Amino acid sequence: MPLIRERDSKRLHIKSKLMGESLVGKTFLQSLEYGKQFRAFPDVNVLKVGGQSITDMGARAVIPVIEEIAENARQHKHKIIVSTGGGTRSRHVYAIAMELGMPTGIISKLGQSVSEQNSLMIATLLAPHGGIKVGHDDIPLLGAFFAQGCIPVIHGMPPYGYWEHLPEEGRIPPNRTDVGVYLLAEVIGARQCIYVKDEDGLYTDNPKVNPDAEFIPRIGAGELIEMGLDDLIVERPVLDMLLRAQSVTQIHIINGLKPGNITRALNGEHVGTIIYKDK
Ligand code: ADP
Ligand code: MG
Repeated sequence: MPLIRERDSKRLHIKSKLMGESLVGKTFLQSLEYGKQFRAFPDVNVLKVGGQSITDMGARAVIPVIEEIAENARQHKHKIIVSTGGGTRSRHVYAIAMELGMPTGIISKLGQSVSEQNSLMIATLLAPHGGIKVGHDDIPLLGAFFAQGCIPVIHGMPPYGYWEHLPEEGRIPPNRTDVGVYLLAEVIGARQCIYVKDEDGLYTDNPKVNPDAEFIPRIGAGELIEMGLDDLIVERPVLDMLLRAQSVTQIHIINGLKPGNITRALNGEHVGTIIYKDK
């Protein structure tokens, strides 16, 4: 890209297509050409250990999940980065914060510390198997951790914090740990993004309250948005992000309470609900 000097201001510019543009022009943005998105870790599996759905169940749910993750990471069988949800303690602090009139950005910060608590516990349990707690700034170090056979554990809350986007309704942060986990998978160009929860996957309604809810093994994100279901097993913004996905074009939600599911999902088997980019 050649340097050019402006005739009037004498300022130096780098000649590029973006020069002098607002970067918001619709036709301009459509006209841009990009290189294919680089995938740093196309062999790495991002695995979310649900907060409410797994960690909060205590040893009964957590220990078998830890053992299955460790077994799959042994001898470099699968490269795995684990991310954690918040769960019941987040909901507790959200309820208090709502009553005290806290803005969305404050509530987001509160949720972050809970998912970090869970990442400390999961990393500690995984420590004998190579578990290592990493922070958001450690993403550029992941290559070194995987090369040594480590299982990095990172908390799931995306770092919007005080700058969290305002929700359509109320003040609960819309981008929570499901979103953070998906965006992590996308930015590292992961092989797959697996959500380990306590149901077989997505149903037409919350199966814990509606026994007639029907299982949906596979559905497009756009189609699911259009269905307008009242309740979902995954945070809604993940669906919008899937439609914009460049690298990770589907997510897999599985039941971590059923032994063997994590292994099968890591091996590429369809065991839960797959939600994919359909537009
Ligand atoms: P996590 O602990 O990973 O954040 P959540 O508890 O937030 O998971 O979400 C999982 C829960 O979502 C399930 O236990 C289920 O009760 C509930 N849920 C709500 N709507 C649905 C639905 N349409 N299909 C399946 N599960 C649903
Ligand atoms: Mg959740």
